[in-house]
Amino acid sequence: MNTKSRQAQKSQSVAEALTFNVAGLLGEPVGSIRDLDVGSPPLNLGPDLRQGSGVVGQLRLTRTNRGLLVRGTLATSIEQECSRCLREIDYPLELEIEEEALPTIDLASGLPLDTSAEPDVLRLTDHHELQLEEEVREAILLAEPIAPLCREDCPGLCVVCGQELGSGPHDHPDADIDPRLEALRQFRSPAEG
Ligand SMILES: [Zn+2]
Ligand SMILES: [Zn+2]
Repeated sequence: MNTKSRQAQKSQSVAEALTFNVAGLLGEPVGSIRDLDVGSPPLNLGPDLRQGSGVVGQLRLTRTNRGLLVRGTLATSIEQECSRCLREIDYPLELEIEEEALPTIDLASGLPLDTSAEPDVLRLTDHHELQLEEEVREAILLAEPIAPLCREDCPGLCVVCGQELGSGPHDHPDADIDPRLEALRQFRSPAEG
């Protein structure tokens, strides 16, 4: 691959990367299959959420009697903060995609189909393209964790010094001295420490 085409691939937009022409498959009998390799740059998820990496994976398209069944698992990651230690983490996500996509144009006649009966269904474009940008964006937003962790057993932060617990000895007295015991400390001799 020469430098020019590599740059062209790099600057490929999300919309282009997640749009697939499926005219060929639509012309095939019910049950016909096409496997798609998905590789897209990060999507725009609004001001509060950023992807750490693009979207990769495989989708299988199956011709149904009405359109196409789109199925597969995609992987990406989003930038999160560990809910215990507040460390910035790249949180991996698996996106399960399962969606039926219906045409807007009758393939045989070329005439527009009446789509008003099912307004919420995923529609192919009138150029027989499958556009998955919105589906993938929704799947990411649905998969966003409520309380992400940097690792399953993250011990969190010390309530006294704010350092990560388990990161070694902390240079201060024990964190959780019961305030009712605090009064007793003055009776300790200095030697006791
Ligand atoms: Zn953590
Ligand atoms: Zn501490």
